[in-house]
Amino acid sequence: MKPIILPFGLNEKNILVHIADVERGKKCNCVCPSCRTPLIARKGSKNQPHFQHAVDYECKSGMESAIHLAAKKMIMEKRQITLPKCDLKVSAKDSRGNEHSESKTVVEEGAVICFDSVQEEIELHGMKVDILAKKGNRPIIIEIFYRHKVDDQKLAKIVETNISAIEINLSDLKAENVKDWQTIWQSISNPMRVQWLHNAKAQDLNGQLQKQVTLKIRKREEKYKNEEELFLHALDDLKARSSKGSVEQLKQNAEMHPVWKYNAQHLPFSWNELPEFVNAEISDGDWIFGCDRRVWQTAFYKSFIWRNDKPFSIKNVDCWLQNKIRCNVHQSVKVLGVYRKRYSKHVPADIYINLPSPWKTLRAYFNYLCELGMLEFSGDDYHSPGNGWFRVVSKKPCRSPSKMAHFD
Ligand SMILES: [Zn+2]
Repeated sequence: MKPIILPFGLNEKNILVHIADVERGKKCNCVCPSCRTPLIARKGSKNQPHFQHAVDYECKSGMESAIHLAAKKMIMEKRQITLPKCDLKVSAKDSRGNEHSESKTVVEEGAVICFDSVQEEIELHGMKVDILAKKGNRPIIIEIFYRHKVDDQKLAKIVETNISAIEINLSDLKAENVKDWQTIWQSISNPMRVQWLHNAKAQDLNGQLQKQVTLKIRKREEKYKNEEELFLHALDDLKARSSKGSVEQLKQNAEMHPVWKYNAQHLPFSWNELPEFVNAEISDGDWIFGCDRRVWQTAFYKSFIWRNDKPFSIKNVDCWLQNKIRCNVHQSVKVLGVYRKRYSKHVPADIYINLPSPWKTLRAYFNYLCELGMLEFSGDDYHSPGNGWFRVVSKKPCRSPSKMAHFD
């Protein structure tokens, strides 16, 4: 069995001394800090100098006692500690499961605190603490961890009494590595070895941050409520716009619509002889662009098929209809469009599936023109879901959609 060696011993005055400070052999006059049996100072040239028990004695806690005593001695002397960071974060979720948080740095990493008083081995609220230091009237408990961490019971007591506490981890120190007092002090002063067990200031701040988070959530819930009202309003508006009476009105005004009037002179057919491919019944097509279907379909035909043969996308045509020729999709459709993307979970499923959209209507119309052999689908736009590309094949129908269906 490897002999138990120590970097520190207790001299005849019961003072902790380092191996470097004593004479060699039995003359060191030292005892083990734990079992109190005599030590021999081994100070040869081969190994790092160390204390060894004079009698081969099974002393399990010699090193633990030595480190505890050495650490306490250094802290008592230096009266300061380097602290690790202490962050406080409070968070909570709102009714939609989104997290809201507030955070604050209570102690900066590496902050040095100098004490006005330091006491060791103190009885405090029924617990024994390694060190109780004070700065002004603010106490802090300092625990040294070599073999035993602060247990849950003690931790609960610390939290209950709301006294700040730290634990310094020296558990990896080996006798042969503790070459002098400086080694111990460097280890104590390394904030990486220090852990906050409890921070009284953080506990006091906690309630304050909690209030801020609650306020944040309340504001957000109000916003949700407003959005919900906006959504319901848009749904009502949509019902009115797609109603029979409203559609009939658009139909009656169609021939006088300025868009048709402008395009009529450039098209090879008159209002009374419109071919079916510019008067196609498409889902939501009779109202979604704020005009009769014949108005937007003839406008599209003129600019994208009759006078052009360049490929185009659903997005192109939608932008052109709305921005260039003012076949405007109403605000409520846009509101619902935003909802579809952002709040899909909060829109009832049956409404969600049937929410009108100009892209859906345009795609259905272009599919119909594909069946007629006028357009050809060339692919979806993977960067923009729902968008797709088409190219012009013929300015006139070369197939009948009913026949297509027949052959399928
Ligand atoms: Zn011992």
